[in-house]
Amino acid sequence: MSKRILITGASRGIGRAVALLAGHRRWSVAVNYRDNRTAAEQTVNAVRAAGGTAIAVRGDVSSEADVIAMFDAATDAFGGLDGVVNNAGVVAPASPLADMTLERLRRIFDINVLGAYLVAREAARRMSLASGGQGGAIVNLSSAAARLGSPNEYVDYAGAKAAIDTMTIGLAKELGPAGIRVNAIRPGLIETEIHASGGAPDRAERLGKMTPMGRAGTAEEAAEAVIWLLDDRSSYVTGALLDVSGGR
Ligand code: NAP
Repeated sequence: MSKRILITGASRGIGRAVALLAGHRRWSVAVNYRDNRTAAEQTVNAVRAAGGTAIAVRGDVSSEADVIAMFDAATDAFGGLDGVVNNAGVVAPASPLADMTLERLRRIFDINVLGAYLVAREAARRMSLASGGQGGAIVNLSSAAARLGSPNEYVDYAGAKAAIDTMTIGLAKELGPAGIRVNAIRPGLIETEIHASGGAPDRAERLGKMTPMGRAGTAEEAAEAVIWLLDDRSSYVTGALLDVSGGR
């Protein structure tokens, strides 16, 4: 069945790959981005070229007003939502905790935790059977970092992703009766620009060689798992934390 979905941070990386796979299924996709309008428009064009429907929606997930506005835009465009991918996320340069500034810690938790909670809250409000919605699926982007801890790199980011795991477990129980399934994927080392944004562009390739599968994963490999969790083929799966990490 065709779906109407909102993906946060879909201008680049894993979010963009999810949007393209959704386009190939002829789904309707709201492509959220924060800064990179050109990249978001390229994603929209690619979704349309694949056969789907798409709009670009600017908004910072750590702003409550922006999150509400992006859900309003998606709902107005598609007449409702069946799925939400809580994908926007950031890292900061590798550092031991002792050297992290308050400003850095606030940014990591504001975007990765507060932002994800605000997005999940809006999804719950709009898709819940109790509030007139039709039910749906939320897929959260956690990380293998949540169970590895990322010492000397980013224990801040790892802890933020652990919060996403716990939110997934709790919300799956809270929203089951509301007709909403809630799951997370925990990617390992995936080749995207996130590593360059943390000051180590070669990180996925370098560390990927040390994983059991001997390589980093692609954004498309992560996106396949997200699409499955959004789709009705996973209709009895909720509260799951799915590792997509090549055995890492
Ligand atoms: P990426 O390539 O750096 O892309 C990040 C995306 O998030 C961009 O579309 C960016 O928009 C958007 N974004 C950033 N901050 C935002 C904000 N405050 N509000 C709205 N959008 C925002 O990242 P990625 O590697 O695809 O990562 C996607 C998710 O997977 C993240 O949650 C990340 O933590 C998680 N993950 C990634 C890996 C990996 O190895 N790549 C591993 C584990 C988990 P602009 O283009 O406008 O900047």
